[in-house]
Amino acid sequence: MTDLAATATTRADGRQPNQLRPVRFQNHIAPYATGSTLIEWGSTRVICGVTVEETVPRWMKEQNVSGGWITAEYSMLPYSTLQRKQRDITKGKIDGRSQEIQRLIGRALRAAINLELLGPRTIWADCDVLQADGGTRTAAITGVYVALSLAIRKLLAEGKLAKDPLLHPVAAVSVGIVHQQPLLDLCYTEDVAAAVDLNLVVNAVGEFIELQGTGEESTFSEAQLTAMLALGKAGIRELLAAQQAALA
Ligand code: UDP
Repeated sequence: MTDLAATATTRADGRQPNQLRPVRFQNHIAPYATGSTLIEWGSTRVICGVTVEETVPRWMKEQNVSGGWITAEYSMLPYSTLQRKQRDITKGKIDGRSQEIQRLIGRALRAAINLELLGPRTIWADCDVLQADGGTRTAAITGVYVALSLAIRKLLAEGKLAKDPLLHPVAAVSVGIVHQQPLLDLCYTEDVAAAVDLNLVVNAVGEFIELQGTGEESTFSEAQLTAMLALGKAGIRELLAAQQAALA
Protein backbone atom coordinates (compact mmCIF):
# COMPACT_ATOMS: atom_id res chain seq x y z
CA MET A 1 0.00 0.00 0.00
CA THR A 2 1.24 3.48 -0.78
CA ASP A 3 -1.02 5.50 1.53
CA LEU A 4 1.78 6.86 3.73
CA ALA A 5 -0.52 9.08 5.80
CA ALA A 6 -2.67 6.10 6.72
CA THR A 7 0.39 4.01 7.50
CA ALA A 8 1.79 6.73 9.74
CA THR A 9 -1.38 6.99 11.80
CA THR A 10 -2.10 3.28 12.09
CA ARG A 11 -1.27 2.12 15.59
CA ALA A 12 0.33 -1.19 16.43
CA ASP A 13 -2.93 -2.44 17.93
CA GLY A 14 -5.34 -0.61 15.62
CA ARG A 15 -6.37 2.03 18.17
CA GLN A 16 -7.42 5.58 17.35
CA PRO A 17 -4.85 8.28 18.30
CA ASN A 18 -7.04 9.34 21.24
CA GLN A 19 -7.91 5.84 22.40
CA LEU A 20 -6.67 4.21 25.61
CA ARG A 21 -5.83 0.52 25.76
CA PRO A 22 -8.52 -1.38 27.68
CA VAL A 23 -8.16 -0.94 31.45
CA ARG A 24 -9.37 -3.44 34.06
CA PHE A 25 -8.91 -3.71 37.81
CA GLN A 26 -8.95 -6.95 39.76
CA ASN A 27 -9.29 -5.91 43.40
CA HIS A 28 -8.23 -7.79 46.55
CA ILE A 29 -5.66 -9.98 44.78
CA ALA A 30 -3.28 -9.78 47.76
CA PRO A 31 -5.47 -10.57 50.80
CA TYR A 32 -2.78 -9.78 53.40
CA ALA A 33 -2.33 -6.25 52.05
CA THR A 34 -4.67 -3.61 53.52
CA GLY A 35 -5.78 -2.81 49.96
CA SER A 36 -4.76 -4.32 46.64
CA THR A 37 -5.56 -4.44 42.96
CA LEU A 38 -4.10 -5.82 39.75
CA ILE A 39 -4.35 -3.20 37.04
CA GLU A 40 -4.39 -4.66 33.53
CA TRP A 41 -3.94 -1.93 30.97
CA GLY A 42 -3.53 -3.46 27.53
CA SER A 43 -0.61 -5.86 27.95
CA THR A 44 0.87 -3.89 30.86
CA ARG A 45 -0.04 -5.43 34.22
CA VAL A 46 0.96 -4.11 37.62
CA ILE A 47 0.22 -5.57 41.05
CA CYS A 48 -0.53 -2.73 43.47
CA GLY A 49 -0.53 -3.53 47.18
CA VAL A 50 -1.00 -1.02 49.99
CA THR A 51 -0.03 -1.92 53.55
CA VAL A 52 -0.70 0.25 56.58
CA GLU A 53 1.61 0.19 59.57
CA GLU A 54 0.59 1.74 62.88
CA THR A 55 3.84 3.66 63.23
CA VAL A 56 5.63 6.61 61.62
CA PRO A 57 9.25 6.91 60.40
CA ARG A 58 11.78 7.81 63.11
CA TRP A 59 12.55 11.19 61.53
CA MET A 60 8.92 12.22 62.03
CA LYS A 61 9.04 11.35 65.73
CA GLU A 62 12.40 13.07 66.19
CA GLN A 63 11.27 16.22 64.42
CA ASN A 64 7.83 16.18 66.09
CA VAL A 65 6.08 16.10 62.74
CA SER A 66 2.42 15.25 63.24
CA GLY A 67 0.24 13.14 60.92
CA GLY A 68 1.24 10.14 58.85
CA TRP A 69 3.50 9.24 55.97
CA ILE A 70 3.16 7.50 52.63
CA THR A 71 5.96 5.96 50.64
CA ALA A 72 6.12 3.90 47.44
CA GLU A 73 8.27 1.13 46.03
CA TYR A 74 8.31 0.08 42.36
CA SER A 75 9.95 -2.88 40.73
CA MET A 76 9.73 -4.95 37.59
CA LEU A 77 9.49 -8.68 38.21
CA PRO A 78 12.29 -10.60 36.44
CA TYR A 79 9.84 -12.14 33.95
CA SER A 80 7.90 -8.91 33.27
CA THR A 81 10.06 -8.13 30.24
CA LEU A 82 10.90 -10.18 27.14
CA GLN A 83 14.50 -10.41 28.29
CA ARG A 84 14.77 -11.46 31.94
CA LYS A 85 15.45 -8.49 34.19
CA GLN A 86 17.76 -9.17 37.09
CA ARG A 87 16.36 -8.35 40.53
CA ASP A 88 17.84 -5.24 42.19
CA ILE A 89 18.62 -7.29 45.29
CA THR A 90 20.85 -9.60 43.22
CA LYS A 91 22.64 -6.61 41.71
CA GLY A 92 23.00 -5.09 45.19
CA LYS A 93 21.61 -1.69 44.22
CA ILE A 94 18.35 -0.17 43.12
CA ASP A 95 18.04 0.75 39.45
CA GLY A 96 18.06 4.54 38.82
CA ARG A 97 14.91 4.22 36.74
CA SER A 98 13.04 2.33 39.49
CA GLN A 99 14.10 4.95 42.02
CA GLU A 100 12.82 7.77 39.83
CA ILE A 101 9.51 5.96 39.28
CA GLN A 102 8.90 5.12 42.93
CA ARG A 103 9.52 8.71 43.95
CA LEU A 104 7.01 9.78 41.28
CA ILE A 105 4.43 7.31 42.66
CA GLY A 106 5.04 8.59 46.21
CA ARG A 107 4.48 12.21 45.13
CA ALA A 108 1.29 11.25 43.27
CA LEU A 109 -0.12 9.54 46.35
CA ARG A 110 0.89 12.29 48.77
CA ALA A 111 -1.13 14.69 46.58
CA ALA A 112 -4.16 12.41 46.97
CA ILE A 113 -4.28 12.27 50.78
CA ASN A 114 -4.39 14.55 53.78
CA LEU A 115 -1.46 13.21 55.84
CA GLU A 116 -2.65 15.02 58.97
CA LEU A 117 -6.00 13.21 58.85
CA LEU A 118 -4.21 9.90 58.23
CA GLY A 119 -2.88 10.07 61.79
CA PRO A 120 0.36 8.54 63.06
CA ARG A 121 0.69 5.68 60.59
CA THR A 122 2.75 4.80 57.53
CA ILE A 123 1.32 3.65 54.22
CA TRP A 124 3.53 1.48 52.04
CA ALA A 125 2.48 1.45 48.39
CA ASP A 126 4.13 -1.43 46.54
CA CYS A 127 3.91 -1.58 42.77
CA ASP A 128 5.29 -4.70 41.09
CA VAL A 129 5.20 -4.97 37.34
CA LEU A 130 3.97 -8.39 36.24
CA GLN A 131 4.09 -7.60 32.53
CA ALA A 132 5.62 -4.54 30.88
CA ASP A 133 4.41 -3.17 27.55
CA GLY A 134 4.94 0.56 28.01
CA GLY A 135 3.36 2.88 30.55
CA THR A 136 4.23 0.91 33.67
CA ARG A 137 4.66 4.07 35.77
CA THR A 138 1.28 5.44 34.69
CA ALA A 139 -0.35 2.04 35.33
CA ALA A 140 1.31 1.88 38.76
CA ILE A 141 -0.06 5.32 39.74
CA THR A 142 -3.54 4.69 38.33
CA GLY A 143 -3.71 1.25 39.99
CA VAL A 144 -2.20 2.16 43.32
CA TYR A 145 -4.76 4.92 43.82
CA VAL A 146 -7.45 2.20 43.74
CA ALA A 147 -5.47 0.06 46.21
CA LEU A 148 -5.04 3.10 48.48
CA SER A 149 -8.79 3.83 48.38
CA LEU A 150 -9.54 0.20 49.32
CA ALA A 151 -7.07 0.41 52.22
CA ILE A 152 -8.57 3.67 53.51
CA ARG A 153 -12.04 2.18 53.23
CA LYS A 154 -10.88 -0.73 55.43
CA LEU A 155 -9.43 1.62 58.07
CA LEU A 156 -12.69 3.60 58.11
CA ALA A 157 -14.74 0.40 58.45
CA GLU A 158 -12.53 -0.77 61.33
CA GLY A 159 -12.99 2.57 63.09
CA LYS A 160 -9.25 3.33 62.91
CA LEU A 161 -10.02 6.50 60.99
CA ALA A 162 -12.85 8.83 61.98
CA LYS A 163 -12.67 10.96 58.83
CA ASP A 164 -11.77 10.07 55.23
CA PRO A 165 -8.30 11.52 54.52
CA LEU A 166 -8.55 11.08 50.74
CA LEU A 167 -8.54 14.24 48.64
CA HIS A 168 -9.17 14.30 44.87
CA PRO A 169 -8.53 11.00 43.04
CA VAL A 170 -5.36 10.82 40.95
CA ALA A 171 -4.58 9.01 37.68
CA ALA A 172 -1.71 9.05 35.19
CA VAL A 173 -1.31 8.48 31.46
CA SER A 174 1.36 8.72 28.79
CA VAL A 175 1.15 10.69 25.56
CA GLY A 176 3.71 10.88 22.81
CA ILE A 177 4.45 12.02 19.31
CA VAL A 178 5.06 9.19 16.88
CA HIS A 179 5.61 9.94 13.17
CA GLN A 180 4.52 13.57 13.81
CA GLN A 181 1.21 12.42 15.29
CA PRO A 182 0.24 12.95 18.94
CA LEU A 183 -0.90 9.62 20.41
CA LEU A 184 -2.53 8.77 23.74
CA ASP A 185 -1.24 5.90 25.90
CA LEU A 186 1.85 4.50 24.17
CA CYS A 187 2.50 0.77 24.13
CA TYR A 188 6.14 -0.40 24.09
CA THR A 189 6.64 -0.40 20.29
CA GLU A 190 5.19 3.12 20.09
CA ASP A 191 7.28 4.26 23.07
CA VAL A 192 10.43 3.10 21.29
CA ALA A 193 9.43 4.99 18.10
CA ALA A 194 8.28 8.15 19.93
CA ALA A 195 10.07 11.43 19.24
CA VAL A 196 8.43 12.96 22.34
CA ASP A 197 7.30 11.22 25.48
CA LEU A 198 5.06 12.94 28.06
CA ASN A 199 3.71 11.41 31.26
CA LEU A 200 0.89 13.26 33.01
CA VAL A 201 -0.22 12.83 36.62
CA VAL A 202 -3.49 14.71 37.14
CA ASN A 203 -6.23 14.81 39.78
CA ALA A 204 -9.99 14.76 39.39
CA VAL A 205 -10.30 18.55 39.37
CA GLY A 206 -7.85 18.76 36.47
CA GLU A 207 -4.87 19.96 38.51
CA PHE A 208 -1.43 18.70 37.51
CA ILE A 209 0.69 16.83 40.03
CA GLU A 210 3.50 16.12 37.63
CA LEU A 211 4.42 16.44 33.96
CA GLN A 212 7.40 14.46 32.70
CA GLY A 213 8.02 15.52 29.11
CA THR A 214 11.08 14.77 27.04
CA GLY A 215 12.13 15.10 23.44
CA GLU A 216 13.98 11.92 22.47
CA GLU A 217 16.67 13.21 20.06
CA SER A 218 13.95 15.65 19.07
CA THR A 219 12.20 18.85 20.13
CA PHE A 220 8.55 19.81 20.47
CA SER A 221 6.63 23.02 19.94
CA GLU A 222 4.16 24.68 22.29
CA ALA A 223 1.37 23.76 19.85
CA GLN A 224 2.40 20.08 20.06
CA LEU A 225 2.52 20.33 23.84
CA THR A 226 -1.00 21.78 23.87
CA ALA A 227 -2.23 18.93 21.64
CA MET A 228 -0.59 16.34 23.90
CA LEU A 229 -2.05 17.89 27.04
CA ALA A 230 -5.55 17.83 25.53
CA LEU A 231 -5.20 14.16 24.59
CA GLY A 232 -3.77 13.32 28.00
CA LYS A 233 -6.43 15.15 29.98
CA ALA A 234 -9.21 13.39 28.06
CA GLY A 235 -7.49 10.07 28.80
CA ILE A 236 -7.21 10.96 32.50
CA ARG A 237 -10.98 11.60 32.66
CA GLU A 238 -11.62 8.08 31.31
CA LEU A 239 -9.13 6.56 33.77
CA LEU A 240 -10.69 8.38 36.73
CA ALA A 241 -14.08 6.97 35.66
CA ALA A 242 -12.59 3.46 35.40
CA GLN A 243 -11.13 3.82 38.92
CA GLN A 244 -14.49 4.90 40.32
CA ALA A 245 -16.20 1.95 38.59
CA ALA A 246 -13.63 -0.38 40.17
CA LEU A 247 -14.34 1.14 43.57
CA ALA A 248 -18.15 1.16 43.24
N1 UDP B 1 11.36 -1.69 29.53
C1 UDP B 1 11.97 -2.94 29.57
N2 UDP B 1 13.01 -3.11 30.44
C2 UDP B 1 13.46 -2.13 31.26
C3 UDP B 1 12.85 -0.88 31.21
C4 UDP B 1 11.79 -0.70 30.33
O1 UDP B 1 11.59 -3.85 28.87
O2 UDP B 1 14.41 -2.35 32.02
C5 UDP B 1 10.24 -1.49 28.59
C6 UDP B 1 8.90 -1.77 29.27
O3 UDP B 1 7.98 -2.32 28.35
C7 UDP B 1 8.47 -0.38 29.67
C8 UDP B 1 8.93 0.40 28.45
O4 UDP B 1 10.19 -0.16 28.15
O5 UDP B 1 7.09 -0.31 29.91
C9 UDP B 1 9.05 1.87 28.61
O6 UDP B 1 9.89 2.16 29.69
P1 UDP B 1 9.94 3.60 30.38
O7 UDP B 1 11.22 3.69 31.14
O8 UDP B 1 9.58 4.65 29.42
O9 UDP B 1 8.80 3.51 31.52
P2 UDP B 1 7.24 3.20 31.44
O10 UDP B 1 6.72 3.62 30.07
O11 UDP B 1 7.07 1.73 31.66
O12 UDP B 1 6.65 4.02 32.54
